[in-house]
Amino acid sequence: MLGFLLARAGIEILVLEKHADFLRDFRGDTIHPSTLELMYELGLLDEFLKRPHQEVRELRGQVGRETFTLADCSHLPTHCKFIALMPQWDFLNFLVEQGRSYPGFHVEMQAEATDLIKEDGRVAGVRVTTPQGQREIRATLTIGADGRHSVIRAHAGLPSVNLGAPMDVLWMRLSRRPCDGEQTFGYVDRGKILVLINRDDYWQAAMVIPKGAADEIRQRGLPAFREEIASRVPFLRDRVEELRDWKNISLLTVAVDRLTQWSQPGLLCIGDAAHAMSPIGGVGINLAIQDAVAAANILGPALLRGTPTEQDLRAVQNRRMFPTRATQRLQLTIQNNVISRVLSSTKPLTLPWFFKLFQRIPYVRRIPARLIGVGFRPEHIRLPAQTLR
Ligand SMILES: Cc1cc2nc3c(=O)[nH]c(=O)nc-3n(C[C@H](O)[C@H](O)[C@H](O)COP(=O)(O)OP(=O)(O)OC[C@H]3O[C@@H](n4cnc5c(N)ncnc54)[C@H](O)[C@@H]3O)c2cc1C
Repeated sequence: MLGFLLARAGIEILVLEKHADFLRDFRGDTIHPSTLELMYELGLLDEFLKRPHQEVRELRGQVGRETFTLADCSHLPTHCKFIALMPQWDFLNFLVEQGRSYPGFHVEMQAEATDLIKEDGRVAGVRVTTPQGQREIRATLTIGADGRHSVIRAHAGLPSVNLGAPMDVLWMRLSRRPCDGEQTFGYVDRGKILVLINRDDYWQAAMVIPKGAADEIRQRGLPAFREEIASRVPFLRDRVEELRDWKNISLLTVAVDRLTQWSQPGLLCIGDAAHAMSPIGGVGINLAIQDAVAAANILGPALLRGTPTEQDLRAVQNRRMFPTRATQRLQLTIQNNVISRVLSSTKPLTLPWFFKLFQRIPYVRRIPARLIGVGFRPEHIRLPAQTLR
């Protein structure tokens, strides 16, 4: 996204991607109203929504036997009053296709950054490994947007704080039938949390498990695991056999951390490389995109003039630290007060009083919709497109 925005402004950029494609399964794929609003601001929304996607307008939950609506997006101050579910590779391929209309936009696949080039006290580019061998790529500015296991962040030695998470997540897909119902749903009961995301012909299912419990669950065997799903969500009983192998079930080791310093001369980290988010709220993609937009707004003018200063780079962190901290604070509160308690509970659960408020006062559902769908300090496209002659 940052590459796209800078190239659109007439700046020469190169995106390095270590894989041969963007095909990664189980990445959540939630495109929130704040990101859709950016697509609108870029004039790309109609084209974007032509891609296959599902639209989630309400988030619903079931605690014990009681159901409730947690979030209602219909009042959001955005053009799209829904979360779009779209495979992350479709989204990234879309950005790349759009980016190709700008002469300064370059993407190199199968190019893995392995180290930083440091010269005269600043980062001057990266060393990459490609199928043709190793080489150096020099740049006025290097962006570490290489995710939660960032090599760039590790080589830069940027300081971080680990905020911890009590859970991991097992992701899998199960077929969806027309009689199943439409909504994305969270099922919560003693010791159990299962989230079902409607992906049209299948359910993307996330089972939340206590941190580090994956090996024990695997040892208990697939039949026991299938039974756990079927007992949580009885309508899935007729298809849990689709889980034939543990290879069909991916483990997301949940991490919540953030850098306390996002930049060094010549280098800036954004997205998961600067702050790995908890999956709560499915906000990771959107926060990463908001970082990209803030970075483009702040650094675009500096790059058009020459080389961004340390102050310019710090300005991106200053702008984005508040939404990062506030979102992580909320996620930690939910992790520690709701998820930990549910996972360790042995008695049947009933709907807590504050969730009853969501049922009784529809207005209250707008608050989580706003926090999830738009978030703190939403960014807007400020860097103008270069006028192409
Ligand atoms: C299983 C799972 C489920 C998730 N569910 C959701 C969800 O529902 N909603 C949500 O919003 N977020 C979700 N997330 C988080 C979300 O995927 C991330 O927050 C988001 O993708 C961060 O974007 P990013 O660009 O910073 O990093 P990434 O999306 O991780 O992108 C980093 C890219 O850099 C590439 N790369 C890595 N190292 C190198 C290197 N050395 N050289 C070159 N390229 C490299 C990677 O291949 C990757 O394409 C989920 C994450 C996981 C793992």
